[in-house]
Parts: sequence; structure tokens; C-alpha cells
Amino acid sequence: MVTLSLMVVHEYDVVIVGAGPVGGHLGRILSEGDLSVLILEEHLEVGKPFQCAGLVTPGAMNRTGLHHTVLSDVWGARLNSPNGTTLLIGQPDILRTHVVCRKSFDEGCVRQAMEAGATLWLDSRPTSAEIIDHRMELNITREGESQTVRCRLLCGADGAHSWTQRHFRMGRPKEFMVGFQAEVSGYDGSDVCLDMFTGDSVAPGLFAWAIPNGETHRIGVWAHPDRLDDRSCEHLYEALLEHPLWGNRFENAKETARFCGPIPCGLLKKIHKERFLLFGDAAGLCKPTTGGGIGPGFDQIHLLAPAIIKAVRADKLSESDLKRICKPMAKMRKDQERARILRDLFVTSCDDEELEANFQIFAKPEVVSLINEVGDIEKPVPLGLRLLKDVPQFRRIAVKATWALLTG
Ligand SMILES: Cc1cc2nc3c(=O)[nH]c(=O)nc-3n(C[C@H](O)[C@H](O)[C@H](O)COP(=O)(O)OP(=O)(O)OC[C@H]3O[C@@H](n4cnc5c(N)ncnc54)[C@H](O)[C@@H]3O)c2cc1C
Repeated sequence: MVTLSLMVVHEYDVVIVGAGPVGGHLGRILSEGDLSVLILEEHLEVGKPFQCAGLVTPGAMNRTGLHHTVLSDVWGARLNSPNGTTLLIGQPDILRTHVVCRKSFDEGCVRQAMEAGATLWLDSRPTSAEIIDHRMELNITREGESQTVRCRLLCGADGAHSWTQRHFRMGRPKEFMVGFQAEVSGYDGSDVCLDMFTGDSVAPGLFAWAIPNGETHRIGVWAHPDRLDDRSCEHLYEALLEHPLWGNRFENAKETARFCGPIPCGLLKKIHKERFLLFGDAAGLCKPTTGGGIGPGFDQIHLLAPAIIKAVRADKLSESDLKRICKPMAKMRKDQERARILRDLFVTSCDDEELEANFQIFAKPEVVSLINEVGDIEKPVPLGLRLLKDVPQFRRIAVKATWALLTG
């Protein structure tokens, strides 16, 4: 800390805006690299309000070791077609995803950062950020008081409504999905498998879900904005509860909470500027196939952190230094784009008739085996490509896919 006349200036190597799972995990990894880190969180506590179905894949969970935050473990999914074809995928001996208490998970990530040496300021948000004398200088409102902080590198991990993304004019993600979810008790479903519902009336272009959550279930919908017409996600949720095929499962459901949030799917063209980098949802990293953002956010951190730590120590953080550091993101961008193209071909661009036809093919025993063998919630592209290659009935899609993948 430096005192200039009467002004106190706090000095850190790195300031992270946002104490979500990505900001927390980033804070831990950078602190473990012996950097001094300040994390800013605008709320009075970490992990609230939460807007998430709480699915954390085993890979992402293993990066944190926060297994005590798990509410249930899921090995399979019951996929429901628009006309009522049901398909069970998964095997009881292969864990596909954990379902966590998001508040405990976020708190755990931030606690790990603090145990590694990071400082957390709650009720704190930046009001300005600019480079002055080779440092990023931030004005911060902390508990109603103005503070000045200088750092070598500023990281924006401030989520889908990112202030840092807007402040540095980084552009917008390619797609902004809308997600809506309610917490209910009394849903008639499994406690080890997800239910997924498709069709224009409940989830145009994507799917609705029921996720076991310990004692209760999380019922949600997410939709492609281009396919919503005049409907809101609440309308789709109501349609799901009253659906002629599935409505009976919700007959005894009692809602205890509901929330709605955006899901940014499309890595920004550029995620860096001089002394500035974006992470997680703020960078547009959610998966176009599931909306999951925690796993990709963690992958980004581990992909870039070794080079970031070196660059901060050497104070080499010019625009071109950060461009070089961000080069490995090209593969993440390509994978995200391929996943979107395959999702569009199999689901998003299909009307209910085409979706039903795809389900009839998915339901063949040899295709179910292929899905169980290659399917990975974390990496959907290999499965999509194998379906196109190995399932003759998908040849009509394969021609379109080849073209889209080549030109996309
Ligand atoms: C309905 C729904 C269901 C979802 N389900 C899943 C799922 O099952 N699995 C999954 O992986 N993902 C899911 N997601 C996406 C997931 O919630 C996000 O990808 C994830 O939270 C991203 O983490 P993050 O740390 O980048 O951002 P966030 O979790 O949004 O954290 C950002 C933090 O920054 C803080 N902040 C924001 N602005 C400022 C500011 N100016 N100053 C200080 N602090 C600030 C916020 O308060 C927040 O704490 C879902 C999203 C929705 C909407």
C-alpha cells in the first residue's frame, strides 16, 4: 500500500472483478503462482444471487476438490422427443455430472483463493479503469467509500452482464440464450438421472430440464432467442408444467424459488487489451450445447495461467504480449463453434417433425451404444462427428455439416 499525500493507493499484481466460480478459481491459481491478488465482489456475500442448474462435470470438480458441495450425482439422462419417444442414455457405473449447491461451490472457490493468499473486498465495484504510468488504475466504490487501486493486470470475471467487458468496449458474444429455472419439491422424477424435454412448445431450439437436486428438483428451460417469437421463458415453463405428455410428472410439484438469467455462448473476437483480460461468462465462454459455463471457464484459466503468471512477474503485459498469451484460446473458439454448428444441425434448426425423425434414429440400439461410448457432456463434438460418420440415416445431415464445418 502506498500513501500519496492524503490519498491511500492500494497496490496489487492482479485485480479480479467478480467473485463467481471463475473469479474465485482464477484468484487461487494466480495466488498459488505467488502473485498478490485482489478480488472485488459487488454483492455483500459470495454466491448470491445464484442463477444456475448446478451441473459441475467431474473434470471441473476435480480441479477444485469441493466434493462436499455435491447434492446429487447423475449418471444418465432421459431424453423426451416432442411426440413422446423416450430415450435413456448413460450407464449407472459411469458418473456423468455432479449437481452442486452453487452457493457453497462459489464460496468454496473463493475461500480457496483466500487460503492461497488472495484478498477479497465485498460490496465493492469499479467505477473507472485506465492505464496511468504503466499500471492499470481503478477507482472502486467499497462499502460506499471511494478507493484507488493500482495493478499490473486487470481480469474481468464479472459474468454475463460484465462491466469490464462494456467499459473496455470488447463487443458482445455471438449468442445470448435465455435461461429460466424453478426449484420444486414433489416432482415425479429420478434422483440419479436428468429429464430433458424437447419441442417448440417448451424449448424452441434447445431443451427443458428436470435435475435432481438432493431433496428437490431444478426445473428449467432455455431457449434460442431467434425461436422465441413473442413468448418468454416463463411461458415455456408454464407450457412444460401443463404439457399433455409430461404434465402429470409436475402434478404435485411445489415451487420454492425461481430465477432467470442470460447465458453468453460465443467467445468474444478479442478478450484482451493492454493490461486487461476477460474470463468465463464475461468472455462469452458458455457451451452452446448445454449452457454450462463453469467447466469452460476453468479450462480457460488452466490454459492461460502459466503464461499469465510469468508475464505479470516480468511486467510484460502489452497488447501484443497478451495477444500471444491468448493464442491457445483459438482451439477453444474452434471447438465452441463446431459444437454450435452440430447443435444447430441436430436440434436448433429442426422443427418438431425433424426433431422427432432424429429421435427415432437416436433410439436405435446401435446409436444408443455409440452415444454411451463416445458421449461426453464436456466434449460434444466427437460424438456429433461420430454420429454423422457412423449412422447412415444421418447422411443427409452429414452433407450439410461438412459444408457448415468447412465454411463456419
Ligand atoms: C438458468 C441457468 C442455468 C445454468 N446452469 C448451469 C449449469 O448447470 N452448469 C454450468 O456450468 N453453468 C450453468 N449456467 C451458467 C453458469 O451460471 C455460468 O457460466 C457461471 O456462473 C459463470 O461463472 P463466472 O464466474 O464467469 O460468472 P458469474 O457466476 O456470473 O460470477 C460473476 C460474479 O461477478 C460479480 N460481479 C458482476 N459485476 C460486478 C462488478 N461490476 N463489480 C464487482 N463484482 C461484479 C457478480 O456478483 C458475480 O458474483 C447456467 C446459467 C443459467 C442462467
